[in-house]
Amino acid sequence: MPADTTTPAPEVIYVDKRRVACDGGGGALGHPLVWYSLEDDEAVCGYCGRKFIFDPEKAAKSP
Ligand SMILES: [Zn+2]
Repeated sequence: MPADTTTPAPEVIYVDKRRVACDGGGGALGHPLVWYSLEDDEAVCGYCGRKFIFDPEKAAKSP
């Protein structure tokens, strides 16, 4: 087993909607498109571990 494979830190994504879709970003790390409702202003993708946080201000600032 290769020792140089590192697990990427879970990504945090700020969104301005309480319903988000995640497909893991496509490619090798991708997964089927799934939708999440942000309860308590956050949700974590069960496939890729990305964390979605409801924060319209930060969502607007991201590229
Ligand atoms: Zn995902």
